[in-house]
Amino acid sequence: MSKQILILPGDGIGPEIMAEAVKVLELANDKYSLGFELSHDVIGGAAIDKHGVPLADETLARARAADAVLLGAVGGPKWDTIERDIRPERGLLKIRAQLGLFGNLRPAILYPQLAEASSLKAEIVAGLDILIVRELTGGIYFGAPRGVRELENGERQAYDTLPYSETEIRRIARVGFDMARVRGKKLCSVDKANVLASSQLWREVVEQVAKDYPDVELSHMYVDNAAMQLVRAPKQFDVIVTDNLFGDILSDEASMLTGSIGMLPSASLDANNKGMYEPCHGSAPDIAGKGIANPLATILSVSMMLRYSFNLQDAADAIEKAVSLVLDQGLRTGDIWSAGCTKVGTQEMGDAVVAALRNL
Ligand code: NAD
Repeated sequence: MSKQILILPGDGIGPEIMAEAVKVLELANDKYSLGFELSHDVIGGAAIDKHGVPLADETLARARAADAVLLGAVGGPKWDTIERDIRPERGLLKIRAQLGLFGNLRPAILYPQLAEASSLKAEIVAGLDILIVRELTGGIYFGAPRGVRELENGERQAYDTLPYSETEIRRIARVGFDMARVRGKKLCSVDKANVLASSQLWREVVEQVAKDYPDVELSHMYVDNAAMQLVRAPKQFDVIVTDNLFGDILSDEASMLTGSIGMLPSASLDANNKGMYEPCHGSAPDIAGKGIANPLATILSVSMMLRYSFNLQDAADAIEKAVSLVLDQGLRTGDIWSAGCTKVGTQEMGDAVVAALRNL
């Protein structure tokens, strides 16, 4: 049976980078006989222009029916002044919530060719390949009660709640272990179990889940130490699993180790590894329409899709190899350019990856 992939280019540079990612996906589909069928729809500002809302019901229905969704980016100044509830970003939050995408995967991979682009010393980051697994639909961002109350002395007090159920912890821990199993077989669970009750349960449940994964080496680390270790010796990590709040902060920290946001893909998965794949960056309105955006984050999101939703490791490896070969050739978009390299545009970069993949 064919596998359905819904393509949602979005706004700004979204359509430009998506065009290149689709070229790579179509070539992989032919070359490795993957049996994918692609369909296209609109989300974000493009959906507001067409339907008056950032995610139309029929688009959501198509996303539910698809085996995976590939998304560009949403948003832009054109829609910044409209009512908050129907802004482009709302479409993104809605599709993530409606598809139950609780597992957010953000790799921080530094291609050795780009080691000079990092803010850390090349020897500390060269060859870096970390995957951060962040719980995306629970914890303090969603916990109730929350609000502001008045104390007896008349002073206001704000409060949030950090709840995690065993089910929520177990399912994200499983994602972490599953990912570690197909990578370096090392999982570091990050918490604050010396202080927080939610973290104590987190650690207990992660230990229970570990019994099903004897082939994966589990370690625990407090979040303050993890923040320090990520900039001190980031290559000690393979997969990190953590809650929504800690994951939000640590994944941004880790992404900056790699130099450019234009290189970073991401995935958000449900309980059956159905997922939505998108670059970590936004719609970059400042460079939209100029043909200079880096399409590699979106192309690498295609590779993540093949790897994590479809278990097509060889095809995923081939796309990553093709990207690496293009970097070896010295081709760079503006965001990753350095002296001695050849500056190319979005389409040239996409064509180069296609050519490299074809020749593998
Ligand atoms: P951004 O990620 O769009 O851009 C930040 C900077 O990085 C800009 O200078 C941009 O030119 C550059 N950049 C981003 N992607 C690039 C690429 N592929 N190649 C080269 N350079 C790239 O973030 P922003 O400027 O804060 O937000 C712009 C719009 O995107 C806003 O409307 C925001 O709400 C939206 N946004 C969407 C998403 C998403 O769709 N997932 C994420 C973040 C921001």
